[in-house]
Amino acid sequence: METKIDIVNKVSKAKAVFSSFLDGIKDYYPPREAESLTNLVLSELLNLSTTDRILNQALEITDRQSKSLQQVTDRLKTHEPVQHILGYATFLGRKFQVSRDVLIPRPETEELVDLIIRENRQPGLRVLDIGTGSGCIAVSLALELPEAEVLATDVSEAAIAVAGRNAKRHLANIQFHQHNILKEELNLSGLDIIVSNPPYVLEKEKKAMDKNVLAYEPTQALFVPDEDPLLFYREIIKKSTKALKKGGKIYFEINETQGEEMRSL
Ligand code: SAM
Ligand code: GLN
Repeated sequence: METKIDIVNKVSKAKAVFSSFLDGIKDYYPPREAESLTNLVLSELLNLSTTDRILNQALEITDRQSKSLQQVTDRLKTHEPVQHILGYATFLGRKFQVSRDVLIPRPETEELVDLIIRENRQPGLRVLDIGTGSGCIAVSLALELPEAEVLATDVSEAAIAVAGRNAKRHLANIQFHQHNILKEELNLSGLDIIVSNPPYVLEKEKKAMDKNVLAYEPTQALFVPDEDPLLFYREIIKKSTKALKKGGKIYFEINETQGEEMRSL
């Protein structure tokens, strides 16, 4: 039987490894992004920390690690999102599996969830996340709000499957339901909080978007028609009157160009 031994093929200094990886991708990304991608990939693949780099520690790099670094470089050159290459995105300090079926969690959504966590400390709240995608909002709330009961929906079966795996991975107890908020009633009551980061990017904003967002993330997660940008918010607000308790709250992520219209809605 063939035994696979992972052979250490070279010992390198951390700074040299960093520069060599950075050199491979620097013509493809703005300087800051290239550096942060390099930090992320080297930390994941080689366990190399910023301190190791500053102290210029010696590193043993195996054949397998060299090959992986080369593969990651090749994929980054095509602008495939690093979260797809590594298989996960970090959201509020936790790793979430992502795929082409879900939106890659964004930093602006971390801010929304952080706000909800700070504003709602009472135990046992009943919370619904509409359009859960990777499950990043629902899982974070289930783990951070004391004794919360969390429900989450998405129109996409594939997204629900990803979110379910993320809930399992983090031991978060969440009830998932496939549900189309535009076409179906909510049939829920007694909710304390509804949260949603629905699609809100206008079709006409497509031109200004990064190519890799368009190529790798689901259209269904992002876009609304130019002539009805608040479609999701209107439906959610309409359906929430029955679903929320008296004094219940709705938290939305919105398009920065739609602030005024949202306020009047
Ligand atoms: N909550 C995740 C996040 O913040 O990263 C994903 C947000 S993504 C912008 C919007 C989500 O809404 C997608 O997962 C998409 O599948 C879902 N969605 C789109 N249309 C929907 C509908 N009619 N009913 C329910 N969910 C829908
Ligand atoms: N913030 C995301 C982006 O700019 C859009 C998320 C959404 O449509 N809800 O790509």
